[in-house]
Amino acid sequence: MFIDPWGAVLVEDYRKIIECFGLKPFTDEHLKLLPEPNRLMRRRVVFCHRDLEVILDAIRNGRPFYALTGIVPSAEKIHFGNKMVVENMAYFQRYADRVYMLVADIEAATVRGISLEESRRRALEFHIPAYIALGLDPRKVTFYFQSENKSVMRLAHLLSAKVTLSELRAIYGELTPGKMVAALMDAGDILYPQLEEPTPGIIPVGIDQDPHIRLARDLAKRFRREYGFIPPSSIYHRYTPSLDGRLKMSKSEPGSYIEIPEPPESVREKIWDAFTGGRPTAREQRELGGRPEVCVVFELFKQHLIEDDRELDRIYDACKSGEIICGDCKTLATELMTKFMEEFQEKLERARDVIPSLSFTTG
Ligand code: SF4
Repeated sequence: MFIDPWGAVLVEDYRKIIECFGLKPFTDEHLKLLPEPNRLMRRRVVFCHRDLEVILDAIRNGRPFYALTGIVPSAEKIHFGNKMVVENMAYFQRYADRVYMLVADIEAATVRGISLEESRRRALEFHIPAYIALGLDPRKVTFYFQSENKSVMRLAHLLSAKVTLSELRAIYGELTPGKMVAALMDAGDILYPQLEEPTPGIIPVGIDQDPHIRLARDLAKRFRREYGFIPPSSIYHRYTPSLDGRLKMSKSEPGSYIEIPEPPESVREKIWDAFTGGRPTAREQRELGGRPEVCVVFELFKQHLIEDDRELDRIYDACKSGEIICGDCKTLATELMTKFMEEFQEKLERARDVIPSLSFTTG
């Protein structure tokens, strides 16, 4: 079984992934130890991790650690998976002493064929402001472009000395030379903050990015003697299911998910066409209740739209008892999503004003 970080199809069986790849489930114990866990953690949208205990220990004892995220500007917009990464980054940036955000322009070029200039334009005009609008604090973050960071490039080259083609294939499956370059650059990014000082690090990602974490952790162990690297920790969130109810959605299938940003008419149309756990008729639903466990609209409430846990429970109970029907939820989801998009757009404009004052490290 492989997870393809560049593929179009997302994996579906979370339990199998945990077993296959030696991940650890995110448990009640982690929740108790995390100070003021965020919505994604409280609701187990964050579902597994690698070495999260190391970061919990650092937070508890006020010891240094870093948090890192990257963007591949392969599209003009972002999606709700990116939003979850930023929310988790925003959580850890409260406690981390160093925070990094990189633009994977080399990866965009070698895997997606996007020029460095185009990646730069997209990153500066949209992706970086979008991440700031969603909660990344530009005062705390070190920004860089892969193509400009000499230390990352040098490190990626050195890392290549201790990895074999069969290992790369074992992690990624068949891969092109461009993907090999991208994989080594990603490992270089993940370990780069430790060149300054070996410290624990946390990388919040969607599960499809785990191959990069595995490679970086393996290489950290192999280079421990030279650099003192500590294998980085990671947490993983579930996907936001596609609007037709399939978990195994195509990342590149337009219309199967709501993008950020998206205009109100399109938001409304998509939510009203979304798969729900409703019954064939309103009468049946009032009698039997709905099935929020399989409902995409409820999942949107849970993952993104409703912050208050009691309010979410109230909707769940009202659905199960037949007190509300799907039209009620779709009306509410449309209102909340439209409000989110409006607020995002305002924050995005404000964040764009910050871009000229940012400095990008060259390593
Ligand atoms: Fe989903 Fe709401 Fe319909 Fe229940 S009533 S199935 S939560 S849309």
